[in-house]
Amino acid sequence: MEKVVIIGTGCAGLTAALYTARANLSPLVLTGIMPGGLLTTTSIVENFPGFPEGVDGYELMTRMQKQAERFGARVKFATVESVDVSKRPFTLSVDGEPVQAQTIIVATGAGHRHLGVPGEDMLEKKGVTYCATCDGALPMFRNQPLVVVGGGDSACEEATYLTRFGSTVYLIHRRDSFRASKIMADRTLANPKIKPVWASVVTEVLDPKLDEVTGVKVKNLKTGVESVLDCAGVFVAVGHVPNTQIFKGVLDTDANGYVIPKHGSQTNVEGIFVAGDCSDHVYRQAITAAGMGCAAAIDAERYLSALNQ
Ligand code: NAP
Repeated sequence: MEKVVIIGTGCAGLTAALYTARANLSPLVLTGIMPGGLLTTTSIVENFPGFPEGVDGYELMTRMQKQAERFGARVKFATVESVDVSKRPFTLSVDGEPVQAQTIIVATGAGHRHLGVPGEDMLEKKGVTYCATCDGALPMFRNQPLVVVGGGDSACEEATYLTRFGSTVYLIHRRDSFRASKIMADRTLANPKIKPVWASVVTEVLDPKLDEVTGVKVKNLKTGVESVLDCAGVFVAVGHVPNTQIFKGVLDTDANGYVIPKHGSQTNVEGIFVAGDCSDHVYRQAITAAGMGCAAAIDAERYLSALNQ
């Protein structure tokens, strides 16, 4: 039986792994389908303390994993399908196999929100993407007009990154000012290759009949006028949805699916703790997720000490 199972290997999960490993709890850390989490799809992370020149997102996560493993964390590429909390120890179904655990730290993070417009899903990976760092350098996007949708830090970051490849980057945002931090917004607006398209939404991605992206239909929310903007790629950066579906009906969540902790990182189920973006729709930073992972590890360790006294 496992003392601690950590679900997720983003900043929260790997920090929880480091702390529980150093507490001699030999945590089993399950990666899910995206080892290292969303940060592995970022280019340079400039706001993680301790890296004055910035650090590559993939490298940061690789280092975190190595650090946790050095103290005895066991990281396994595996996906949790369900969790039975009706009796203790808890039973997780992991790639079809049962795993028993005294405590669980849920650090499942969040995934990309989709626009939900016609053409988007059909053209995913055929010009529609949710990650500029992963796909921006593909030949299909080189020297072509590209579209980024969103107005937050992610959209600004993606647009800036894509100026390396595209001829022009149209940044379509539904309001007339960015939600992004001032430094990111200023950098974006100063880039001559980025053309903001304000107060507008994408209503359709074209053209599923041709099986490739040829453009987007854009509606100006102030005038109601719809037009077509030619482009070879659509990079969607409109926020995230928490990866908490497997805990539906088990853990208390808000209306959007974010886990609501009860005391500290403790959830409504004693022995299950939560950390990171799956329970945070406010801060959502690498460093806050790491801090939450640390807190969850300390809470789990204290819970286990009390349980085994
Ligand atoms: P976000 O801050 O939630 O921004 C999402 C953007 O998408 C908002 O501008 C929102 O519009 C827009 N949006 C949402 N749903 C939409 C829809 N259906 N259609 C059109 N537009 C839609 O998400 P994010 O940019 O991914 O950032 C998430 C967190 O990560 C933030 O805390 C951010 O600071 C952080 N982050 C930091 C960095 C960095 O520091 N380098 C980089 C990336 C992300 P409204 O503005 O109208 O709501």
